[in-house]
Amino acid sequence: MSLEITVHEQSCRGCELCIDICPTKVFALDEEKRLCTVVHGEDCIACLSCSYICPSGAISHRDFHLVKNFYRDEEFCKKMEKFL
Ligand code: SF4
Ligand code: SF4
Repeated sequence: MSLEITVHEQSCRGCELCIDICPTKVFALDEEKRLCTVVHGEDCIACLSCSYICPSGAISHRDFHLVKNFYRDEEFCKKMEKFL
């Protein structure tokens, strides 16, 4: 099972804060809709920065506790160093 990230389109105002803050570049702006979209959900390290910073509360995560467990894996942590 992997983490699920949802951007609620009705709430997103396209401010791009989540794009700026995400250390692993999970989000991109959909220029046409002026909304952010999840483009690399598999790279999410579940830091939850995007959820905290979003002024509209538009981002939610499911099953992130499972991803958090990766922090206990030394190999995974080494891989993540370049993003932090
Ligand atoms: S921070 Fe929230 S409102 Fe701003 S672009 Fe991201 S999802 Fe949309
Ligand atoms: S939880 Fe962290 S890594 Fe995952 S999408 Fe949000 S800012 Fe990016």
